[in-house]
Amino acid sequence: MSNRLGAIQGEAKSLVSGQWGDRLSFINAVLLERLGMKQWMSKEESNFLRIVPPLTPDAYFGFKVHVHFNLGVGKDAFLCPRMMKKERCPACERQDELKKAGADEDVVKSLSCWPPRYLFFVIDKKNKETEAEGVQLYNAPNSINAEIIGLSKNKRTGELIDISDPEHGKLLVFDRKGKTSTNTRYSAFELQDDGPLDPALMEVPDFEELLIMPDLALMRHALGQTTEPAATDKPESERVPADQTRTRTRETTATPETVKAPDAEKKVDPPAAPKTETAQAPAAGRPSIDEIRAKAKARLAAAQAPKV
Ligand SMILES: [Zn+2]
Repeated sequence: MSNRLGAIQGEAKSLVSGQWGDRLSFINAVLLERLGMKQWMSKEESNFLRIVPPLTPDAYFGFKVHVHFNLGVGKDAFLCPRMMKKERCPACERQDELKKAGADEDVVKSLSCWPPRYLFFVIDKKNKETEAEGVQLYNAPNSINAEIIGLSKNKRTGELIDISDPEHGKLLVFDRKGKTSTNTRYSAFELQDDGPLDPALMEVPDFEELLIMPDLALMRHALGQTTEPAATDKPESERVPADQTRTRTRETTATPETVKAPDAEKKVDPPAAPKTETAQAPAAGRPSIDEIRAKAKARLAAAQAPKV
């Protein structure tokens, strides 16, 4: 296939999967790439995921993020400083103002960073080829997390299950129907048994390392605010600070999964991390969490080092 045909096919694929390139994202795609990690997207079929636990033993295995999507002409995505760091957020403040002024409900809603999304480290266990992709980052809608929480409790005994447990974890299985921003639905969630995780696949970075905290001037610019002349007087091509330019890439800021599933508003708090006997005492022959963490740190440091 010629390069152009390949490019066209790529473009067609990106449209089908709901991605449009050249938007700012809240995920550090460059670092992700250097770590050899792809972003996972659910497919319109049955999906089989093994969730890889983060290396912080008492943290929930999904990482909650609040994102303002589709801001400005660039339709960029920004993490919400208010929800993520309890700092001032231009988008939330604008939303507050508009709400107070009785603005159109859709306009107010378009500035919302609710519902949250959840990041997971996953292995796609659909088949050998997908499994060979290794650990990927799944930027999932709130509804997926709600289903996981539902499945994490034994309905009869009330006992919590840690589906991300390295040795006794489960496969998360679900179907997706629909591709567009309005018709995507997830269904038929279930857990299936799976074997122990390969310790080499557990060398994941902290989620925070993969996130980009927003440049507030850029965020204000996207909101059409002109209080920051430095950010607005420049032409479009020059207004992106260097550290964010690198991350302009095909990102999943507007995947069909950004659309709320019917139950997406359900407020679900992650369960406390289940205490399992295996968490601190790995089976014979398996490296300890501390050993895995040391390797993960070395990998991250190598990925963050400037390329010469
Ligand atoms: Zn906000």
